[in-house]
Amino acid sequence: MTKTQIFKFGGASVKDASAVKNLAEILRNRLRKNMVIVVSAMGKTTNALEKLLELRMKEEDISSNSTILKNYHLEICKDLFPADHTIFSKLDNYFLQLEKLLVNPITKDNYDEYYDRVVAFGELISSRIVMEYLCEIGLVSVWQDAREFISTNSDFRFAKINWEKTRLNCQKNLKSILDQFPVVTQGFIGADPQGRTTTLGREGSDFTAAILATSLDAGSVTIWKDVPGVLNADPKLFEDTQLFDELDYQQAAQMTFYGASVIHPKTIKPLANSGIPLFVKSFLKPEAAGTKIFQLGKQNPIPTIVLKQNQILVTFRVTDFTFIEEEQIHTIYEQLNALKLRVNFLQTSAISVSIIIDQQLFKLEQLVNSLKNKFIIRYNEGLELLTVLHPDRKDFSDLNPGYEILLEQSTRNTVQFVRRKE
Ligand code: ASP
Ligand code: MG
Repeated sequence: MTKTQIFKFGGASVKDASAVKNLAEILRNRLRKNMVIVVSAMGKTTNALEKLLELRMKEEDISSNSTILKNYHLEICKDLFPADHTIFSKLDNYFLQLEKLLVNPITKDNYDEYYDRVVAFGELISSRIVMEYLCEIGLVSVWQDAREFISTNSDFRFAKINWEKTRLNCQKNLKSILDQFPVVTQGFIGADPQGRTTTLGREGSDFTAAILATSLDAGSVTIWKDVPGVLNADPKLFEDTQLFDELDYQQAAQMTFYGASVIHPKTIKPLANSGIPLFVKSFLKPEAAGTKIFQLGKQNPIPTIVLKQNQILVTFRVTDFTFIEEEQIHTIYEQLNALKLRVNFLQTSAISVSIIIDQQLFKLEQLVNSLKNKFIIRYNEGLELLTVLHPDRKDFSDLNPGYEILLEQSTRNTVQFVRRKE
């Protein structure tokens, strides 16, 4: 029997009606039973849902934002379906549920849980539209709620996978459906043991594809993107980029660690562990080979530039005449761990520790509050972390015109700059 294949389509590949039609064209000769289609929210829907939550928290009116979001999906559906199609009442229903949910007061204490329940609508609606459209044009597929098989803990917004349970769910409940039909499902969302909706972290749909692949012993995963594959820099930010035809799991994972946004950082590990190849292909040129990520066994030495935006530099200075020792670093890391903040860059001096972390709502405030009795803390927001992997030269000043460099660090294999627009 042929092995399961996973296709993942991100927000850009379903951002409007013609994108959905293009997705269907890609599937026309490729769709078969034993295939899972993982779909993200359409276009910038997740950001729009985050905005609704933000407005609701400030007790501001959400009706115009919510109408805009509904109309966006409605216009897409008008283009894809006949006027009497059931998708229109389903859409009404989704937005009714969403509005009902947003009537509840949202506070700092329940924010994460509400966040997951609210943003999940992006994926639920998008996957429903895609499945209905595929069926409409004769590509029969079935819709499945990912929360029925992606089992997580209750860390809302950053839920951890219960691999054993997820595998069991997939093998027991999903496999038998896949034996008969292709399945369309959502990326990014799961459910905790109480059945409450969770999410896996922003851009987590790639990770969903990898989770399903390992849990179903799939043959491959293909992520369809608006770029030709994995490039040695983001083509939206840099010129003259080069495509990697092949990449070792390890090198790809390293690139995502430093911030390459082409694949979600958590995607590679489960695939590498089970030896499942990952293809990154262009939905604009579906026939082109793209990039194959697998156990290549060697590094590709092309210099690679990775940019992480929305970074915060936090500097912790000792309050007396002591020097920085393990103990202080330990104290800081303990707090970072408690707040689930990852350090993207670290530099220590005799009397201070500087770290770079992602900008995250409330987290900086919590970090500062928890450590302000032990250190003098300063921070700068709105920074960028630029990393060059496999640098082929010493001088990278051409990469930073118009930027002030706050910190710099280099090793044999990487050069990093923390920078701010002048
Ligand atoms: N829709 C979610 C997000 O925008 C998940 C994803 O796109 O992978 O973060
Ligand atoms: Mg997205």
